[in-house]
Amino acid sequence: MDCLFCKIAQGQIPSNKLFEDDKILAFYDIDPQAPVHFLVIPKQHVDSAAALGEQDGELLAHVFATIARLCKELGCDNGYRVVTNVGEDGGQSVKHLHFHVLAKRSLAWPPG
Ligand code: IMP
Repeated sequence: MDCLFCKIAQGQIPSNKLFEDDKILAFYDIDPQAPVHFLVIPKQHVDSAAALGEQDGELLAHVFATIARLCKELGCDNGYRVVTNVGEDGGQSVKHLHFHVLAKRSLAWPPG
């Protein structure tokens, strides 16, 4: 499968890594929309959050615990936003599940 984030997860394409283990990878977004903007992906391919099931609970807990820890380490003390875009209307451009983490600026709501 020709998937950009699979290639990043496998180290075939370089990324600015924050954290990785056998299950997930966190790396900085190439086009940051906030002073802190990183992505967290499962290393195993999942198309989007729409493909998640009950069996993915442990993976998701690990993703969110890692986000909380990284945000603490990065000093995002004033808060942060976690976003996952799904499909065309959701604005998903890379078809591999990823969580955006944005911080260190005041983020508007609702998003555009
Ligand atoms: P989406 O629009 O929610 O699918 O988000 C995809 C994100 O991936 C965008 O914020 C892009 O800037 C980011 N992105 C695309 N290619 C790369 C890359 O090679 N390295 C890091 N981030 C990337």
